[in-house]
Amino acid sequence: MYGMGILKGLGITIKHFFATYTDEIRYGLRKYTKAVDNFQIRQGPETKGIFTSMYPDEKIAVPERFRFVPFLVVNDDDHPDAPGADWCTACGICAKVCPPQCIWIVRASDPNTGRPVPRPDEFYIDIDICMNCGFCMEFCPFDAIKMDHDYELASYDRTTVHIHDHERLIKPFSYWKSIAPTTATEEAEARGGWEHIDVIKERKKREAAAARAAAAAQPAAAPAPQASTAAETPAAADVAAPVAEAVADAPAPVVDEAEEERKKAERLAKREAALARKKAKQEGGDN
Ligand code: SF4
Ligand code: SF4
Repeated sequence: MYGMGILKGLGITIKHFFATYTDEIRYGLRKYTKAVDNFQIRQGPETKGIFTSMYPDEKIAVPERFRFVPFLVVNDDDHPDAPGADWCTACGICAKVCPPQCIWIVRASDPNTGRPVPRPDEFYIDIDICMNCGFCMEFCPFDAIKMDHDYELASYDRTTVHIHDHERLIKPFSYWKSIAPTTATEEAEARGGWEHIDVIKERKKREAAAARAAAAAQPAAAPAPQASTAAETPAAADVAAPVAEAVADAPAPVVDEAEEERKKAERLAKREAALARKKAKQEGGDN
């Protein structure tokens, strides 16, 4: 039937209008006392009806998934190993997926070798172009860019103040936990800990290596059962003794580390060769 939508809308408005007065009766004068939670009573989640917020003295709390412009996550200042370290690895994915292309990143490089290092040297976001879509946050594989709740960004100069640089963009991880506790917890569960994903991966690798080492060392460290078996079945002892000896002589982690080193050297050599080829090609092009 035509006009049903309009009637429904009017019904909701009228309901809110009357709720304003019934809520006044429910709270009585408590809404207007000078108590600390005065604002919470007037505009808390249970409050009904139409109300006025005395902005900017009073601000309505925003929902956890509210998003304004992005910020970059860094370690807290009291982090035991790397205080203030960037979570961003300058991979550039956020800049690629950003629909209005308002992110600009320069990756840092090692001053001695000139090679790129996984950290941003410069990071800019033009917040006048940003459309608050949150794609950068969704696509970041390192949970390094998040959407902020701070919406008071008006200024008199858009040419400089509205282009947020690295210094302006960084905020500690504890800030993200405070504005989005549920999302931060879900992300930490998915990563396997509260740390940066690279730190967690390294820790898991170390733990796996230690577990392998312990497993390899176990038969050599517990010869008692073999001795008793040997006493009962001499033929089995002939087999078990050399195996235990071999395990003791060649511990597995040492072999793994050597293999890792060899692979690393191979990778480095390949990279060196590729760089040399690229350099030669560039020189050839210049000439
Ligand atoms: S914020 Fe995330 S996606 Fe963007 S460059 Fe840094 S690590 Fe990559
Ligand atoms: S929120 Fe959207 S528009 Fe803004 S920087 Fe991120 S991807 Fe770009």
